[in-house]
Amino acid sequence: MIFPMPTYRATSRVRWRALPTTPESPVVGPTLGSASAGRGKPRPYGRRGLWGGAALEGNGSGRGFRQRLQLGLWCLVLALGLGQPCRAAVGPIRYLLDLREPAAHLVRVTMTVPEAAPSTEFQFPAWNNLYQIRDFVRNVQELRASCDGQPEELERRDLNTWRSLPTPCANLELHYAVFAHEESPFSSSLDQDHAFLNFALLLFYLPQERARGVRVQFLLPEGWKLATVLEGEGADFQAPDYDVLADSPAEAGHFQEYNYTQDVQLPGPNSCSGGTGVSPVTVHGQDGRATSGGSSGRRRATYRVIVHADPADYSAGRLLASLEKITDTETALMRDVPFSRYTFILHFPREGGGGGMEHRNGTAISVPASQLRDYWESLEGVAAHEFFHLWNVKRIRPQALEPIDYVRGNDTRDLWFSEGVTSTYGELCLLRAGLITPQVFYARLAESVRALQERPARAFQSVETSGREAWLEKYPDYSRPERSISYYNKGALLGFLLDLAIRHASHNQASLDDVMRRLNEDFARPGRFFTLADLGAILRSLAPSYAGLDAFLREDVQGTHELDYDTYLAYAGLRLLRKTEEIPAWGFVAMRSFEGHIEVESVDPGSTAQKAGLQRGDVLLKMNGKPLFVLRDLLHSSYRPGQRVKFDVHRRQGDAVVEYALEGKEGTTYRVEELPHPTAEQRQVRVGWLRGTTGIVGAHGVRPVGGRAPLAPTSTIREGRP
Ligand SMILES: [Zn+2]
Repeated sequence: MIFPMPTYRATSRVRWRALPTTPESPVVGPTLGSASAGRGKPRPYGRRGLWGGAALEGNGSGRGFRQRLQLGLWCLVLALGLGQPCRAAVGPIRYLLDLREPAAHLVRVTMTVPEAAPSTEFQFPAWNNLYQIRDFVRNVQELRASCDGQPEELERRDLNTWRSLPTPCANLELHYAVFAHEESPFSSSLDQDHAFLNFALLLFYLPQERARGVRVQFLLPEGWKLATVLEGEGADFQAPDYDVLADSPAEAGHFQEYNYTQDVQLPGPNSCSGGTGVSPVTVHGQDGRATSGGSSGRRRATYRVIVHADPADYSAGRLLASLEKITDTETALMRDVPFSRYTFILHFPREGGGGGMEHRNGTAISVPASQLRDYWESLEGVAAHEFFHLWNVKRIRPQALEPIDYVRGNDTRDLWFSEGVTSTYGELCLLRAGLITPQVFYARLAESVRALQERPARAFQSVETSGREAWLEKYPDYSRPERSISYYNKGALLGFLLDLAIRHASHNQASLDDVMRRLNEDFARPGRFFTLADLGAILRSLAPSYAGLDAFLREDVQGTHELDYDTYLAYAGLRLLRKTEEIPAWGFVAMRSFEGHIEVESVDPGSTAQKAGLQRGDVLLKMNGKPLFVLRDLLHSSYRPGQRVKFDVHRRQGDAVVEYALEGKEGTTYRVEELPHPTAEQRQVRVGWLRGTTGIVGAHGVRPVGGRAPLAPTSTIREGRP
């Protein structure tokens, strides 16, 4: 997940700069979440839910006794193994979502539970997408129940849980409405323009039967169409269980749709093992079935791009060109296409904030239209990050995130890897896809270093703890530099340093790319979840001579040692330059609220900002005439002490304009640069790192033993351009 224009701080001590493509700097929002496996059980690539396909999708009431007995026995075996109740031969839970009251922002839901057990419990999630307890039940209204057409009183057990009568019911129905009026990839919204739906914000689940199949139907306003990550046709969709449903958002309205397919040439088993200890790659077909040709061959990937925006606000050609480069680069890097179809749901609103939310087979991304116009790279950065999540966190999944607890939340200690290293790969992918130059890559790396080094909290909060405390990010003051660091920021840095360490220790015969592929092969594919110990074991096997590995895990991941940038960067013939100079002091601290507003949290006493009348609580609408969600304009590199700034602010008493000259203060700036005369080994590591290859650098470039270089060019076929 990313808040691409996340919280921004402008203070005399710290500035958070909005680098939309590097969520490490200003990220305040938490994170992802949602589902992949059913009730904490593995979901191997090749399986369609816990129940292994359609075995339980039929309506059990018509089955013969023998069939019911067989299913019952099978169910008993499964139930014993899975540790959760199970009833044979029950049909899917059905949800009907009526979107025909868009002006009222009310999604009317009918939930039907066939053959409901006595005392069936219904629960509403308290969180999803973001790692924040958000109490989604607050938007549920007019809840009533009926059993076989007769009204039934539900007993409320707690804030999120209701229970039916202690008698069975052939068709237990819940009727309710959900107020959906929050535009963001992490929420749900319904208005006369469109609907964007995250189902965990809309639909109850049965805590005792979360692995039960579900079917979803929609009633749409006249003339609307629907696109969803769910499997299905027309307005009728299904999912193997609630977790998959919650991880499959939908867009409805009058969107633009584009499709493209890509052929990805996957390498054979010998081309990537080259002495690196990498497991032979097994190529899987859709949903994990091996394609013909054994463990190598061409795979065709299908991508759908759904855009809710004014077509005048973006170039479809540029959009598809960017996405194609990203999907091509990352599938080649992972040597894997584990989906039958991947869906980008994109919003480019004229007003409001942005962000990106990953899903197993798609992503929802919002980028303000003005930002798209001024800073196209922000969209590319978010897309590169979210697409890589389809492996890292959605399939390469930490044990601690399973099973998903929709009410209390989960242990998020591994977010430095699941989010931070995803940011590492977002950046590497942009570089290797040719979307940014090495010089831009170095500049962003230096910016990430600055973002961490300016936070005093790095002295006491480890990156593991930062992930664990992600749940506190909903409180603005938690993000103070004195209180917390960002697991995006430090996690991404650790990803870069780890890659350099592996390459150095293995003489560039192995890399972090190999680690990701091993996690994919050894954990994601067989449906296993990983722990930090598992990661350590893979690192040890790929780079046995990496003597500092234990210290890295203990001191840099779980501890608070200062990162040794100089040693790691030197492995690639790079150095970090630090310069103390006068930089502008903005005189205030601002935070981005959950609604996307940039709000002044405090004003420094005696500052020019205070003298000019800036107040706590002011919402900053524009700076120097530009909408302020384009926070990259607030980089201290582009502003100088003495320069005048003008803010259009909104406050309760009425809008105002605040204008003042920036003061100066002493601060450190960072720059990463290449050593002019690297050793052969340093050059080898650097070239491998930048290009995503392992092997020996010879007179004619890299002789690869892995990575992208051996792959054949890919082709792209576009369809359905409007
Ligand atoms: Zn993310």
